[in-house]
Amino acid sequence: MQHTLKHAPYERHVHFRRGNMTKAVAPYTARQCWGGVIMPNTAPHILTPEDAVEYRDFIISITGKNFTPFMVGYLTAVTSPEEVKRGYKAGLWSAMKVYPRAAGGHGTTNAEDGINMLELANHPALPIMQEIGMPLLIHPEVNVDKNGVETDEFDREKLCVAVLRNLRRRFKRLKISAEHGTSVELAKFMERYGDPETMVCTVTTQHLMHDRNDLLRGGFQPHLRCYPIMKRRESRDAWRALTTSGAPFVGAGTDSAPHPTHAKERARGCAGGVFTAHAMVPLYTQVFDEMNSLEYLDNFLGVNGLSFLGLEPKLAEIVLTKQPWTMDKMIPVAHGDKVRPYGFHEDPDERFQFQWSIDSISCDQ
Ligand SMILES: [Zn+2]
Repeated sequence: MQHTLKHAPYERHVHFRRGNMTKAVAPYTARQCWGGVIMPNTAPHILTPEDAVEYRDFIISITGKNFTPFMVGYLTAVTSPEEVKRGYKAGLWSAMKVYPRAAGGHGTTNAEDGINMLELANHPALPIMQEIGMPLLIHPEVNVDKNGVETDEFDREKLCVAVLRNLRRRFKRLKISAEHGTSVELAKFMERYGDPETMVCTVTTQHLMHDRNDLLRGGFQPHLRCYPIMKRRESRDAWRALTTSGAPFVGAGTDSAPHPTHAKERARGCAGGVFTAHAMVPLYTQVFDEMNSLEYLDNFLGVNGLSFLGLEPKLAEIVLTKQPWTMDKMIPVAHGDKVRPYGFHEDPDERFQFQWSIDSISCDQ
C-alpha cells in the first residue's frame, strides 16, 4: 500500500539544542521537512534577535540551505516590546515563545525564565505583537496558582484554557498557537475557537499514540516522560479525533526533544522530552492510517498553520509505503553521549514496529 503527499512536510515545533547535539539531530528533521519552527529554550536561550541569527546560521551550516529554520525568541518577563518588534521587522526572528514559570523554577527544559501564565495577558509585548502580526507560541500550562502554590501536574493544561480564553477576548487579532495539545479540555477549546489565521495548535506524535498508562506501565518509562505529561485515554482519543478530522488549525509539531541518555535514564530526576524526529512522517502517517483519515494527512503535515506563520506551503511529491521497520540504533552525539530515539530497544523483539516509511521525496525548491 502506498500514499502520496503533494506538499513537503513542515515541522511546527522542534528542539535542536546547541552544539554537538544540533549536529546529531537536526539532519533527521531536515531529511523530511523543508523547514521548521525552532524552539528557543536552548542553553543559552535565544533572548535577542542577534542570538536568533547566530543560531539560524549555525543550523543552516548543518542542514544546508534546503532547510529553512523559522526562528523564535524566548519571551521572558523582561523582554522589551521594542526589541520584539525590532527583530521581527528586520526579519531576524519571526515569533515569540512563552514558557510557564514553575514553582521550583523550571516548567520544562531550560524554562527558568518562564512567565507566570496568570499574568501573561499583561505582558507589554502582546499589544505590539498583535499590531505587527507576530505569532505568539504558548506552552499552555499553569504551573502555579494565584497563591503561588504548585498545581497538580495532570491539571496544568486544563488550567491554562482560561488563560487562552482571556487572551482571545483581550487580543482578538493576536496570532496564538497553543503548542503540543494533550488534554480533552484544550481539544474542546480548539474545536470552538480554532482558526487557521489567529488561533492554531500543534500536536505531538507521542501524545497521539500514548496515554499515561503507557508512561507508568511496568514502572516509570523515562523515554515517554515529556512536558506536558501524558493524560488519560479519553484525552489522547480527543486529540486523535481532532487531529484527523481535517481541522485546518491543527498542525504537526513533534516537540522532538533530545536528551543524552544519562539525563533520561537515572533514578533521580529525568529530563522531559521524547526524541521522535527520526520518524516524524512515519508516526503521524501511522496515526492517520489507524483513524482511516489518510486523506487529511497532506494538509496536516504540509499546509496547516503555514499561513498563520506567514509562510507558503511547498509543493512536493512524497511517496509513503506501508512497510514495517524498526529503529535499530541509538543516535551518537559526541564524547560517548547518545540519544535514545523513540522505538529503539536493545532487545530487537522489544522494538516498536513503525508501519510506514518514506519511499521517495522530490521537492520543488
Ligand atoms: Zn517543546
